[in-house]
Amino acid sequence: MKTKNFTDKPRDITDRINKKPKICYSIEDFKDKNFDLLQEARQSLQKIDEVIIPPRDAKTFKVKFGNFFRIESVEGPQVGDLNLFQLDNLDEKFYSGKSRALYGTHLSVGDKMFSSFPYLRSLATITWDTLDWYGYDADGGSVHDVIGTRCDPYTSKLLSGNDYHYCCHSNLTRALVNEKNIDLKDAEKLVHDVLNVFMLTGFTNDTKQYFMKASPVREGDYLEFFAETDLLGVLSACPGGDCGSEHSSDNAKCYPLKVSIWSTDTKYLDKIKPSITSTYNRNHGLK
Ligand SMILES: [Zn+2]
Repeated sequence: MKTKNFTDKPRDITDRINKKPKICYSIEDFKDKNFDLLQEARQSLQKIDEVIIPPRDAKTFKVKFGNFFRIESVEGPQVGDLNLFQLDNLDEKFYSGKSRALYGTHLSVGDKMFSSFPYLRSLATITWDTLDWYGYDADGGSVHDVIGTRCDPYTSKLLSGNDYHYCCHSNLTRALVNEKNIDLKDAEKLVHDVLNVFMLTGFTNDTKQYFMKASPVREGDYLEFFAETDLLGVLSACPGGDCGSEHSSDNAKCYPLKVSIWSTDTKYLDKIKPSITSTYNRNHGLK
């Protein structure tokens, strides 16, 4: 935290601290040209599969390019931690930090989930969000953040001294072990910073610390995505429940989450191609 207690102010402080903000990455040039088409396509969705995520656990799901998937609240308010991979190459995974740099602290309709370097392409586009009415509240809070990481047993141990095994980090790891039949250590390395689905978070106005409030999600609410390549998803139903009080423990009331996979009429897909990985030549100035 910046306490501003140690150094003297420079004489030209007024000039130095009064610059106007400039958006780091303008997204005007790569707004989704298929967005209107996706909105049309989602009018004829047909459910083809669904997976229930038990509380304090995670499950995997697969979505082929051209299908949609929804993460849905069932039974009660519950936060979900989402990891996304390219189905055939787990090295290509969701890049929370870059998605944040492009779209801001919280994602909603029209925003894309970008993948890690050297791929950097859209894995999925958000096509519907039943919580988009929330916007940003007076504390700067909103839903579906890309500013948190995922609850994990290491930070829990650091802060409380406890060994807790059902944090989202561990839930995601176990789900990957079961899906890919791989070593625990290899699975853990694949787990990455998440999209915090339904979680209500922000940075405090004074100290800029990460905060959470009880999620406004209710039964039947959902966040919907269009798969821009073949995907492996992993979703954890966070042990924090609605994340209004605490996580990394068994104290919060937790509920299941539902992931459903939907197909659409192929007439829409003729005009939509899978997203392509970055064409940067990867010389990095050496060749
Ligand atoms: Zn969690």
